[in-house]
Amino acid sequence: VRFFKNLYKRFGFIILLFFLMSGFFNPSIAVFALICMMGPILLSLFKGRFWCGHLCPRGNFFDNVTSVFSNKKRVPWILRNIFVRALVCMGLLYYFINSLIKHWGNLQSVGMIFYKMIALTTIIGILLSVIFSERAWCHFCPMGSISAFVSLFRRGIYPLRVLPICIDCKLCAKVCPLSIKPYKYKGKDLIHPDCISCGNCMGICPKKAVMRRGN
Ligand code: SF4
Ligand code: SF4
Repeated sequence: VRFFKNLYKRFGFIILLFFLMSGFFNPSIAVFALICMMGPILLSLFKGRFWCGHLCPRGNFFDNVTSVFSNKKRVPWILRNIFVRALVCMGLLYYFINSLIKHWGNLQSVGMIFYKMIALTTIIGILLSVIFSERAWCHFCPMGSISAFVSLFRRGIYPLRVLPICIDCKLCAKVCPLSIKPYKYKGKDLIHPDCISCGNCMGICPKKAVMRRGN
């Protein structure tokens, strides 16, 4: 199982590339994007944004491909702002539902709606990677935002805890792809709804103050 987990972690983005190529020639294939739209939301009730950090092919693409040429700059607050996130969510959902109603019954046209959405948002994600950091898009991705909201009602334990031995060096905040400041949770569970459980903060902490509790 560990072998396949590592394999996916390294090469999961091939699913995105396959999707973009095959959907270009046959848009009906693009309806499979529904899995990537519903998956993160359903899982978030139990594991927060785990999907974003471990299963999303586009997130994997950002981690493995765009990270190579990313600017590694902190994502500006405006892109993390709750109102901007809500606006992006509502705008894309409005476009999506409206287009679905118009083209309902025609698989090729419905597939093309999915395809356009994924292709366009991937291009935006790549551009933001270059300007800011590789996971900049994930700060306001509609599915990520909805998952973060749903995860406020999650059941079960939180996977990470920041121990009181934290010395406030703030290195953890520097490596967090979602601009979270783990040290702010000193002595508590890391309950930030945007945490994708990537473990970067654990790896960098010189005191081993970020502890995985399992989930
Ligand atoms: S890297 Fe570790 S010690 Fe430093 S601020 Fe973060 S949790 Fe605290
Ligand atoms: S670096 Fe830590 S706080 Fe940030 S997303 Fe990864 S696990 Fe969560």
